[in-house]
Amino acid sequence: MQPLSFEFDPQLIRRLDRNGPRYTSYPTADRFTPDFGPDAYQSWMVRRNASDVRSALSIYVHLPFCRTLCFYCACNKIATRNLSKARQYLDYLHREIEMQSALFGRHRDNRRVVQMHWGGGTPTFYDMRELAQLFDLLRSKFDFTDNGEYSIEVDPRTVDASGVAALRAMGFNRISLGVQDFDADVQRAVNRVQSEAQTLAVIEAARREGFHSVNVDLIYGLPKQNPLTFGHTLDRVIAANPDRVAVYNYAHLPTRFRSQQRIHEADIPAPEIKLSLLGLAVERLCAAGYVYIGMDHFARENDALAVAQREGRLQRNFQGYSTHADSDLLALGVSSIGQIGPTHSQNYRELDDYYESIDRGRLPVARGMELTADDLLRRAVIQRLMCNFVLSKQNIEISYLIEFNEYFKNELQELDDLAQAGLVEVDERWITVTARGRMLVRNICMVFDAYLPQAQSLDKFSRVI
Ligand code: SF4
Repeated sequence: MQPLSFEFDPQLIRRLDRNGPRYTSYPTADRFTPDFGPDAYQSWMVRRNASDVRSALSIYVHLPFCRTLCFYCACNKIATRNLSKARQYLDYLHREIEMQSALFGRHRDNRRVVQMHWGGGTPTFYDMRELAQLFDLLRSKFDFTDNGEYSIEVDPRTVDASGVAALRAMGFNRISLGVQDFDADVQRAVNRVQSEAQTLAVIEAARREGFHSVNVDLIYGLPKQNPLTFGHTLDRVIAANPDRVAVYNYAHLPTRFRSQQRIHEADIPAPEIKLSLLGLAVERLCAAGYVYIGMDHFARENDALAVAQREGRLQRNFQGYSTHADSDLLALGVSSIGQIGPTHSQNYRELDDYYESIDRGRLPVARGMELTADDLLRRAVIQRLMCNFVLSKQNIEISYLIEFNEYFKNELQELDDLAQAGLVEVDERWITVTARGRMLVRNICMVFDAYLPQAQSLDKFSRVI
């Protein structure tokens, strides 16, 4: 199967871009409630263990500490130089792993791990010995398959070639580097000074050590960015040949993220410039042979994500696009979000609450939800549109025992407007996102989101520009 065609249409984006969820989950995390706490979580774990259908596990580990604060950052992180504070967190994380692993039944299949991701914060804030101990603990509790995908986010300022070798020796086989922009003025304006040489050295070391996939994160819309310098960054990144490139939009929301108050608004590129930065990224990456996966993601044609998309196996979960989202997701660490069976749950977002819960011998689950039959159906529709850009109505009818046109009568009427705008084509059997509608796929998914009309404001969600 050929890669899906894709067309960048700046006029369409300018006209129809709006705030909306990124659908790393449906329902989105703002629907979680404290009614779903440790007891509900544990009862679902009992059901999981009793079930004959044992999903494989994906594990997410959140390591929130960073040495310095990048002003643009909207992640759940803690900037500190205080190592004892970070070590205290590791102690609690070890205790949470002990508590969580005790919930999994004795059967080996209950503990089979096919995917793991460590994110943050900066996982490489810790030294390699501490990271290895954490990996060893997880390995002693769970059954990691040999051909699983084990990835870690790396800040090139905190790791050298020997660190990359140590990560590979631990068992990581995928690596993701935060870069954002190589330009010195931009780096100073966002308080993230990271030399091109540091980044390239980590990429080279990852290749030498046999990492299966290298991802680079860039951001457009940062202060001081312009097409000339961002073009240079793109050329240098493409020359380093990562397997995946993510190009995120910088959303300036200084009232929500305090560190963004330190960014000078006058330095932020105007919307028109932002659009041209995004256009430049699309143009250069596609010309260099990258395939547009969806949302902010590009991948080499032979990368697992691009292959999975061509074969209709691509999924979406809390970490973004994935080849393994049909597995249960075990979330470990402060603020992390998991998915066990038809449930979503999130740990406490504040360290004190997370520690207190563990000290009381309670799982640190703060909130979550059990999905209804309608949620599961809509999740399937949204997943397929986000990942495949095409949906077979009949396929949904067979899987969920509904009559599609009847069940989604109102939604199909709403889609008419988007069809007229050129985003989507709808016929008796298929809903197909057009080549130029792909970058706005969330607009189409929002039509199927039953909770959106109740959402008080969409400002908390991001947009393309
Ligand atoms: S961008 Fe990464 S390194 Fe910078 S503050 Fe955020 S989590 Fe930390």
